[in-house]
Amino acid sequence: MTDMTVIAASGAQLPEAFTGRHLIGGAWVDSKDGATFDRISPSHGVVVSRSAKGGEAEVLAAIAAARAAFDQGDWPMLAGKERATLLNRVADLIDQNRERIALIEVLESGKPIAQAQGEIEGAADLWRYAAALARTVHGDSHNSLGPDMLGVVLKEPIGVASIITPWNFPFLIVSQKLPFALAAGCTAVVKPSEMTPSTTVILGELLVEAGIPAGVVNIVLGYGDPVGAIMSSDPRVDMVSFTGSTGVGKRIVAAASATLKKVSLELGGKNPQVIFPDADLDAAADAIAFGVYFNAGECCNSGSRIIVHKDVADALLAKVTALSAQVPFGDPLDARTQVGAIVSDAHLQKIDGYVQDAKAAGAQVLTGGEAFTVPGLGGQFYGPTVIAGVTPDMAVAREEVFGPVLSVLTFTDADEAIRLANNAAYGLSAGVWSRDVHTCLNFARKVQAGTVWTNTWMDGFAEMPFGGVKESGLGRELGRYGLEEYLEVKTVQMRVAPGRSPWVKG
Ligand code: NAD
Repeated sequence: MTDMTVIAASGAQLPEAFTGRHLIGGAWVDSKDGATFDRISPSHGVVVSRSAKGGEAEVLAAIAAARAAFDQGDWPMLAGKERATLLNRVADLIDQNRERIALIEVLESGKPIAQAQGEIEGAADLWRYAAALARTVHGDSHNSLGPDMLGVVLKEPIGVASIITPWNFPFLIVSQKLPFALAAGCTAVVKPSEMTPSTTVILGELLVEAGIPAGVVNIVLGYGDPVGAIMSSDPRVDMVSFTGSTGVGKRIVAAASATLKKVSLELGGKNPQVIFPDADLDAAADAIAFGVYFNAGECCNSGSRIIVHKDVADALLAKVTALSAQVPFGDPLDARTQVGAIVSDAHLQKIDGYVQDAKAAGAQVLTGGEAFTVPGLGGQFYGPTVIAGVTPDMAVAREEVFGPVLSVLTFTDADEAIRLANNAAYGLSAGVWSRDVHTCLNFARKVQAGTVWTNTWMDGFAEMPFGGVKESGLGRELGRYGLEEYLEVKTVQMRVAPGRSPWVKG
């Protein structure tokens, strides 16, 4: 571990703990029973936020407010232009508040400040993109049904959307959902993760400042049980949009099935990158380091599984191992840091369990492989880790570790590479490295994944849809598809000339 590039505590003064309350029907409220919960910073080990802890009373009130705003309010029928104006105003406010949002995001999640700032900037872009989409909602017309008939397909907002988000990209992920729901004309109840509630509260403040009508966006803070569970089962909710673990996603589907709600799920991944012998190994090695260490590997898109051709495996691993030691690692408040803290001690233990099990099964830990103390900080950190000699039967080859841990497998021909890449219950994203365009295209067509990157990793654009196949999810976010998720189709069939032939012949 001594060869790691460690960034010691910067000694930055921490702000006072953030206070978060629920936003229900346009008012900021505490929980009726006064319950709160604290978030201890994973990097600094001190309380950084205290939030109202929602119970049944708060969720039911929030759902009632969203339902009333949809059924009786102006929002669903407001002109797209007006909805777009509001969403653009929110984007401007996000930009103006970037530093404030990024700081609390760092303190609650442990991610590096530079990455948090990038995330907030990217989120503002999503609000602007959704604003543009708000003016494009339209259906179809059918003028070829015969001389007497005209058909119109209307697109309508689906209704009340429950939006449930995880802790790893709290501000970005709520921005992949909420502005699209609002652009469509839906109203919403939002629940951030109990680990990272505060940036969603700030987003609520910005929505209020931008003029969102009362009840259109409601925020309830708290835990999956009872808040998320009620948001997934209450009959007044029309749709649940969830990002999080596959296990919770399955529970949400079960809860939503009693009232047949639409469910949109962005779940886990075990994303492979396949490296062919003709690849640019320097470029691949850097993208592999980025893919697995970005956000400390706590990333649904983590490129946690490398499948490399036997002929270049040693050369590639030497490069990746060297880069692993160079990645600046430590205090997330230092602008140089690229790998921050692990979100909780329990999660760190889980990560380490995967590594120790792989070791016991005969894999070799080339670098990292243990928890790490950053001088001057009290939180939990895990060293950038490369594990070679991984075989497909090991848990570390198939399960989502959600930490800075790279598993390396090898292959000898393209068919074996595809077989190994598809050998997982997940199907979120995949990558291929080769200078031959045919090799890349062949892989892109055969791999089971919602997104494929060729000679790059984890680029993302508001315009490009994102989501998974298999147990990585249902539905798509971003792009035009991200808006469609929140729209329902209504068919209107109109007789436009007299003369309908009577059914009852008198
Ligand atoms: P999680 O599933 O534990 O929690 C996610 C959210 O669900 C939290 O707000 C939590 O409070 C809530 N929740 C918990 N139990 C619930 C229940 N029974 N009903 C309703 N809501 C409930 O996930 P996490 O640990 O916060 O996030 C990590 C997971 O998220 C990883 O598996 C990761 O791959 C996934 N993720 C996926 C994407 C994607 O776009 N595919 C993006 C980011 C994270």
